[in-house]
Amino acid sequence: MWTPAKVETRRVELDLSGSGQGSCVVTQVICDDIAICNAANLTDWDANSVQVELCEFCRVPGCSSGGRVAIRRVSDRVLLIPDFATMVEKGDQSEEWAPPRWMVKRGVLALSRAQWDLIQASSANALIFDLIKHASVGDLLRIFHFQAPRVFLPDYLQPLMAKWELITCTNGHNSENDLRHLKRLFSDPAHFDGFEICNPRPDSYTVSVFLDLPSDAEWLVFSSEIEPAIRLSDELYFRPIP
Ligand SMILES: [Zn+2]
Repeated sequence: MWTPAKVETRRVELDLSGSGQGSCVVTQVICDDIAICNAANLTDWDANSVQVELCEFCRVPGCSSGGRVAIRRVSDRVLLIPDFATMVEKGDQSEEWAPPRWMVKRGVLALSRAQWDLIQASSANALIFDLIKHASVGDLLRIFHFQAPRVFLPDYLQPLMAKWELITCTNGHNSENDLRHLKRLFSDPAHFDGFEICNPRPDSYTVSVFLDLPSDAEWLVFSSEIEPAIRLSDELYFRPIP
């Protein structure tokens, strides 16, 4: 999960004469010097599937494939996540709905409310914070799958295809219990009624799973409590409600 230190917007004049449009002024959203949206003023922020990376040549929504996110609220944060629901629904055509390249590289984007307000102010129809849809427990589990090492879960939309044989052990009190908890998080559909955002107890530590591989060897998964708090980042843990 990517929690940027710096978010800014930048107005840029583009020459779109290649697509017969002449020049055009767009607002880019830059997080830690990476453009996460190449034309905030032309983006349809209100859509279910928000295309934040518009076609380089014409900046017309839908002209190019991918670059799509879903926007969700979790407590006081705004998350830009892959549009999991549409990708699952569309199956084979999922490339069309794929997340932006920066998200594949840097992870799900977690913004503070102030950072979101800055983006919202420079975008035609971006929702104000209070109107953004709340994340569901399904969204959070999908994020957890997305963040799992790709060697362990090659297709993050298919949690049942996880390669359990690659796990050697965990550093929790009881590796067997840890794996049982972990397997519940990769069932499909996962049977949870909801979740609570929580902080792990101060006397707990974060359990790592170790994979039998030279790279991606350690994967931080959840707190060492009896009912573990699932880790999405150092600042964001949740506990599913069975
Ligand atoms: Zn185009």
